[in-house]
Amino acid sequence: MRLFHYSRPRDVAEAVTLLSAEPDARVVAGGTDLVTLVRDGVRAPSHLVDIGGLPLDEAEWLPDGGVRIGALHPNAPLDSALRERYPLLAQALASGASPQIRNMATFGGNLLQGVRCPYFRLPEYACNRRDPGSGCAALDGDSSHHAVLGTSSRCVAVHPSDLAVALQALDATVRLVGRGGRRRGIPIDELHRLPGNTPHREHALRHGELIESVELPAQPKGRRSHYLKFRDRASFAFALVSVAAVLDVRGGTVRHARVALGGVAPKPWRSRAAERELTGARLTDAAVTAAAEAAAAEARPQPDNAYKVELLRRCVRRALTEAGGR
Ligand SMILES: Cc1cc2nc3c(=O)[nH]c(=O)nc-3n(C[C@H](O)[C@H](O)[C@H](O)COP(=O)(O)OP(=O)(O)OC[C@H]3O[C@@H](n4cnc5c(N)ncnc54)[C@H](O)[C@@H]3O)c2cc1C
Ligand code: SF4
Repeated sequence: MRLFHYSRPRDVAEAVTLLSAEPDARVVAGGTDLVTLVRDGVRAPSHLVDIGGLPLDEAEWLPDGGVRIGALHPNAPLDSALRERYPLLAQALASGASPQIRNMATFGGNLLQGVRCPYFRLPEYACNRRDPGSGCAALDGDSSHHAVLGTSSRCVAVHPSDLAVALQALDATVRLVGRGGRRRGIPIDELHRLPGNTPHREHALRHGELIESVELPAQPKGRRSHYLKFRDRASFAFALVSVAAVLDVRGGTVRHARVALGGVAPKPWRSRAAERELTGARLTDAAVTAAAEAAAAEARPQPDNAYKVELLRRCVRRALTEAGGR
């Protein structure tokens, strides 16, 4: 058994100080992912900094109509005001895990949860993400659940979060706090990194930083959305493909479009190519089909997952059709 220190800081400043003091210190929030990874020998922190008691679990409305959601807000059902203004968020959260896990799991933990690649989670297999330079067992193994976009020769895992896909489509900002109380905000699109040559560098947080909250801009009236999750079984499964679609259609013309994809890339994937096809176009079947084609155009399947490319096209078409109310 590997020993580690455990602390429960009284405030954010103490949490950041503890995290900054050791290179292998890690935040634990709901613990639904990290505890499993530590138990299975995938992660070996020197110090677990348990932020579960900090007052970061509330949602606060902002003067401009947006909302700031604390990093410890559970993945459980949202209150009625949040559900009404951000139905996409509610749909994405409800599609994940089980009620018991959603009650424990937090926003911050969901965004930074580990990949579900089975080789990452079994320390006896080579995995560049877990042990840099060791190789990638998925490349010669079962790649049926792996990525078709944004991969590298070092890692082809998909990011598993449903929440992060919805946050992409809602233009969220992730608020971070670090050493000396320094705070900064980064667009959700910059939180997760593509694997490139360094798949073990999974996110943009600096040493000692933690996620304090997530901010969502106000959604103008008339904006419509849909979260579609396609999976092996109807509940309690990660996405094979998911799509978060947001559309603002005035007089039949698309004024604003967001198309974010899950289950297909090592990070929540915003398809700007699909958005370009839609913005300024009439919302016709042809425009929806062109957007779906554009979303899949750069897909490069692994040996076992060519099915994901066609599935991606169909899911994008269906999510846009639902969001457009057609
Ligand atoms: C059986 C099962 C099914 C699941 N199905 C789904 C699913 O369908 N969809 C889905 O999206 N998820 C799913 N999950 C994943 C689940 O949503 C995550 O385990 C959960 O969201 C993690 O949140 P947590 O608070 O428990 O994080 P923890 O386990 O405490 O932490 C996870 C990671 O985030 C880091 N972290 C946590 N909070 C912060 C913070 N504030 N700042 C910086 N770093 C932080 C930790 O250091 C750790 O690396 C499933 C999990 C299980 C066990
Ligand atoms: S795909 Fe990524 S996470 Fe999976 S074994 Fe390869 S390097 Fe590890």
